[in-house]
Amino acid sequence: MSFWEELGQRITQGSQGALQKTKAIAGVVTMNADISDSKRKIRDLYEELGKMLVEEAFADLTAGRISEALEADKADSLKREIDFKDWKEVLTKVMYIKSEEEVIAINEEKIREFTEEERCPSCGRKVNKGMTFCPDCGAKLIRPKEEADGADEAAKAAAADAAKAAAADAAKAADQAAEQ
Ligand SMILES: [Zn+2]
Repeated sequence: MSFWEELGQRITQGSQGALQKTKAIAGVVTMNADISDSKRKIRDLYEELGKMLVEEAFADLTAGRISEALEADKADSLKREIDFKDWKEVLTKVMYIKSEEEVIAINEEKIREFTEEERCPSCGRKVNKGMTFCPDCGAKLIRPKEEADGADEAAKAAAADAAKAAAADAAKAADQAAEQ
């Protein structure tokens, strides 16, 4: 499975997990785990990019030279065009960071939607979204089932669309990178 297919599947699975009320907690746990996983990947990619920057673009500079320039207030004299040996590799890492950030944003939005609180229309107390009856006054809270099912389908379709759009953007970026 390609990275982009996998990404699309992760987004779709995450939103489905959140929308099925019986699996709600498991869905939020999965999405939180996914967010942690994306954040760890992003940290690693930043570390790799930073290493490439220091080892390639600034390879000729010693700490002594930099220190001298800073002390003489001539930092600008060490300015340079940043030229990476493997430009495609740099661009690929940036693309992966941005795609992981998109996955985080989608997961965070889904968690927010799910954990958002509502008020009971009868007594006005705060109730969790997805509850069937108010725990205080017992009033029925849930929307008609057909409506809820429609919302599930719409959310699934929206998640699939978002994944497709992200994959198309990335493919375009990869093509442009390959042309250079
Ligand atoms: Zn109530």
